[in-house]
Amino acid sequence: MEKISAIVPCYNEEDVLEYFYNEICGAAEEMKSSAEFEFLFIDDGSKDKTLEIIKKFAENDDRVHYISFSRNFGKESAMYAGFQNAAGDYVAVLDADLQDPPRLIKDMYRYIKEENYDSVATRRVTRCGEPVIRSFFARCFYKLINKISKTEIVDGARDFRLMTRQMVDAILEVTEYNRFTKGIYGWIGFETKWIEYENVERAAGKTKWSFWKLLIYSMEGIVGFSTAPLALSSIVGLVMCLVAVLAIFFIIIRKFIFGDPTSGWPSLVCIILFIGGIQLFCVGILSQYMAKAYLETKNRPIYVVKEKR
Ligand code: UDP
Ligand code: MG
Repeated sequence: MEKISAIVPCYNEEDVLEYFYNEICGAAEEMKSSAEFEFLFIDDGSKDKTLEIIKKFAENDDRVHYISFSRNFGKESAMYAGFQNAAGDYVAVLDADLQDPPRLIKDMYRYIKEENYDSVATRRVTRCGEPVIRSFFARCFYKLINKISKTEIVDGARDFRLMTRQMVDAILEVTEYNRFTKGIYGWIGFETKWIEYENVERAAGKTKWSFWKLLIYSMEGIVGFSTAPLALSSIVGLVMCLVAVLAIFFIIIRKFIFGDPTSGWPSLVCIILFIGGIQLFCVGILSQYMAKAYLETKNRPIYVVKEKR
């Protein structure tokens, strides 16, 4: 019988874990004629009772495994740990908050089996229940990154998907430290079927992503999957040089027509500030890439395990 590993990253999810466990057990029950399940909970350094609850599940259920991190390493690290430790022929990643309905796994499995896809992924078509500014920035982010990156990153894609062993092995080959899994999925390729569904609000508990965390995460995506900002800084430099040459001609000609009135220091200040700003901006872009390269060369582990079963 084929085995499906369900990877569940959990960070402070004590409010929702019981519901989630019931749901996923229901999903496993529905599929018991075709596949068996393994539940792999990744406790991402939770400070509440998350780990205790997971251990309680593990006591009564052999299908439950867990890995507990020594601190909060982030969802990306949790997913990577899950991929490394999943033993199934198929691997699913889903959130603990029931925003990714476990019962969809059955359909996903069917698509992979019958239509020969390598993975089945979900994307949400509405963003209702989300703050308006956040949706706006999210849309802008996807438009921008798809313009400047060769890797396709699908708007509204969730991390919820089911994939074959072959695809998981490909993800494991990508061992970079600054991880942006949505981009990695696109980068490794393979055939993906997209299922669309309406946004569901989380069953209990609070979202772990603040606006700033998301902003930093989006920069991770851009720096990780495009070098266009670097090219942009060279182009800006070039354009500034052209403008400077034009300005020189303008000033020389003006001198011959109007003589040399000693005025214009306010405009000079503006120009100096403007150019200074652009220079710092370009150095800033460069530093983003340098910082990432610096972190990669350190070769630190992506996560540290405190306990596992
Ligand atoms: N999560 C995690 N580590 C973190 C933040 C989140 O493992 O540092 C998990 C969280 O427990 C949940 C999933 O990632 O299972 C998605 O998080 P959340 O629901 O807060 O994000 P949203 O759905 O609002 O994007
Ligand atoms: Mg959520």
